[in-house]
Amino acid sequence: MPELLAAVAEQPLVDHHCHGVLIRDADAATLESLLSEGSGVPGGSAFDSQLGFTFRRLCPPVLGLPPHAGIADYLDRRAELGVTEVSKRFLEAAGLAGTIVDTGFTPEPLTSPAELGALAGAPAYEIVRLERLAEDLAAAGIGAPDFADAVWSALTERAASAVGTKSIAAYRTGLDLDPARPSDADVRAAAERWLASRSPRVADQTLQRFLIWCGVDLGLPVQFHVGYGDRDVDLHRCNPLLLTPLLRAIEPAGVPVMLLHNYPYHREAGYLAQVFPHVYADAGLATHNVGSRAPALLAEALELAPYAKFLYSSDAFGLPELHYLGAALFRRALFEFLAAGSSEGLYTERDVVRVTAMLCAGNARHVYRLGEAT
Ligand SMILES: [Zn+2]
Repeated sequence: MPELLAAVAEQPLVDHHCHGVLIRDADAATLESLLSEGSGVPGGSAFDSQLGFTFRRLCPPVLGLPPHAGIADYLDRRAELGVTEVSKRFLEAAGLAGTIVDTGFTPEPLTSPAELGALAGAPAYEIVRLERLAEDLAAAGIGAPDFADAVWSALTERAASAVGTKSIAAYRTGLDLDPARPSDADVRAAAERWLASRSPRVADQTLQRFLIWCGVDLGLPVQFHVGYGDRDVDLHRCNPLLLTPLLRAIEPAGVPVMLLHNYPYHREAGYLAQVFPHVYADAGLATHNVGSRAPALLAEALELAPYAKFLYSSDAFGLPELHYLGAALFRRALFEFLAAGSSEGLYTERDVVRVTAMLCAGNARHVYRLGEAT
């Protein structure tokens, strides 16, 4: 199977959902905290986990250390090389043909899409996070009567250099959303309530729906956070099946809906990708968090999803190691998936090359209309 391994290993990836990396050096506490979605392991370490052992096995060699180098040695080497060189090494090792960056979550300064693309040696594109756009307008003092028009004009301005939008309704209200487009009067009343509350976070069903429909009207792919995330999410309210009425309502617009992450509902997402022509899925964030179980995850996600409806994403945030591990584990999982099918006589060699190119990059190029440069 060496040719098959090479086909997957050499195929550049388009990462259709990730974040920038830190622009400061990372210490032990930073590595621990960014390694998982958790908030600490009392008396233990986040490194004692599927992702932790995969990190220890795969990351030290990228920095010129032996596999399983101690964390203290690893941090010394990281500091010696400096944050830019470390980021460059991991992002280059990820083998990216393009990176699509969500710029809406910046609890501390991160690289811009252009900076991330330069480190990766690949074109970078931006996704506009809808809630962040609304929250920035609120922080700038917009009034309720002007809110809807201001969102639309800010969105069209940003969209000139973006390839899609993203909703984090999952984090704010859950995905059980009324599919109807809210009326102007309802949006205004909801904006009045939110702005009067002085909450920096929009977390209102009417406003979430308004923002999503703005994204649909824009005509670019709309990404949804689905499933797995940090503890701000009520996971049971993030099953993608809850989106079914909204998916039906969006379908006539012909706008692609991108279901991100999905774990542990990746099978449900695969079902939706099969039955709705405009729905796509990935297994980002989970792919690296489940470590050695990534092949099982991918195999489950691809049980029902047509291969033209599944994309690669890392959902890496902050640590360039996560961009690399997402890519390495996706390739490993895809190799095992295709090798198993090939050994059963399901795929010819040509099928393997074609399916690999679709899943790794072609589907993303098509949906986001990235053109031949990527
Ligand atoms: Zn993300």
